[in-house]
Amino acid sequence: MSTLDYDYKFDVIINKIKEMDAGNIILQFPEGLKSDAISVSDTIQEALPDVNIIIDADPCFGACDLADVKVNKHIDLVVHFAHTPLPIRTDCPVLFIEAHSTADVERPILDALGRVDSTVKVIGLVTTTQHMHKLDEMIHLIESRGYTVKLDKGMGTSPGQVLGCNFTSIKNLDVDVIIYVGSGDFHALGVKLFTEKPVILADPFIGQSREIEEFYDRILRIRFARIAKAQSAKSFGIIMSSKKGQLRFDLAIRLKQLIREHGFDAQILNMDYVSPDLLLPYNLDAFVMTACPRIAIDDSAMYKKPVLTPDELEIVLGIRDWENYQMDEIIIHDEQT
Ligand code: SF4
Repeated sequence: MSTLDYDYKFDVIINKIKEMDAGNIILQFPEGLKSDAISVSDTIQEALPDVNIIIDADPCFGACDLADVKVNKHIDLVVHFAHTPLPIRTDCPVLFIEAHSTADVERPILDALGRVDSTVKVIGLVTTTQHMHKLDEMIHLIESRGYTVKLDKGMGTSPGQVLGCNFTSIKNLDVDVIIYVGSGDFHALGVKLFTEKPVILADPFIGQSREIEEFYDRILRIRFARIAKAQSAKSFGIIMSSKKGQLRFDLAIRLKQLIREHGFDAQILNMDYVSPDLLLPYNLDAFVMTACPRIAIDDSAMYKKPVLTPDELEIVLGIRDWENYQMDEIIIHDEQT
C-alpha cells in the first residue's frame, strides 16, 4: 500500500460495513484523491475479503454529486470521501469520510502572517473540509502572535468552512484581513469577491502563502470579456445538471423566461456531467450555467462560446451593474431530492 496523505478512517469504514452487513459497496473519490483509490480499496478488501468493492471512476467534484443514483439497486453503501454532507436525500446509505489532510498548517500560516500589514488586529479565518480538523490549531497559532481571530458559521457549513459554491460563512465577518487555508485559488477568489477584504492564501500542500490580488484581477478581466462577448448573443443555452446537489430546476425555468422577456431565444439543456463537447451540437450563441458555479469560472478557457453565471446573465441583460458582480452560489436549505 502507498503512503496516503489523508486520513481515510479505515476503522470507521470497516465498522460501518460490518454493522450494516453490507455485501456491495462503492467508493467515491474526488479527482484529487483518485490516485489513492486502489490502495484504499485494497486495505478494505484485506479486512473484509467477502465484500464486493467497486470504485466509482466517474468524475466527482463535491458532495453535490453522490454515486447513490448510479448503481443503487445493487449497492448497500456508498463511501464518499473528502466532502461534508449536503442536505440531499439519498437513494441508499452514504458514509461520508472527510479524508482530513495530514499536511502541516503551521508553516503556511506563519508565512501568511508575514504578509500581514502592521495595522492589522483582527484576522478572519476560513478553510475547506480537508483542513477543518486543524481549525483549533490554526486559531491558537494566529492568536499566539497577538491577533484576534474571527470565524463564522455559514448556511449549511461549519464555522470557518467554505465550499466552492457556499461562502455564507464569511459574508458578515468584520475583520481587517482574511487568511484562507487551502490550496485552490477558486475558494480564495470567492472569499475576496464576497468580502472585498485583503485575502491571503496559506497553502498547506506547499507550505507557503500567496496573495490572490493578481489572480483576482485576471479572473475579473476574463469575466468582463465573457460578458462583453455575450452581449451580442441572440440565443442562449441554459445548462441544467441532473446531479442532485447541482440541480436548480426553478432557476433554469426562471432564466429561460427572463431571456425570452428580453427578446432572445433560450433553450434549457439538461445533462449530468457538463463538458464542452456536449454543447457542440447546439447552435446557440452563449450559455448560462445553473450547474456547479465553478464550471463557468474554472473551465472558462475550455469553452469556445461564453459560459455565464446567472448573475453575469443579469449584467448582459442590463438588470445588474458590473459593480455588483458576485460569485454564483448553491445554498441548499432543506433536504432535497
Ligand atoms: S456544486 Fe460545485 S462547488 Fe458546489 S459542492 Fe458541487 S462541485 Fe463543489
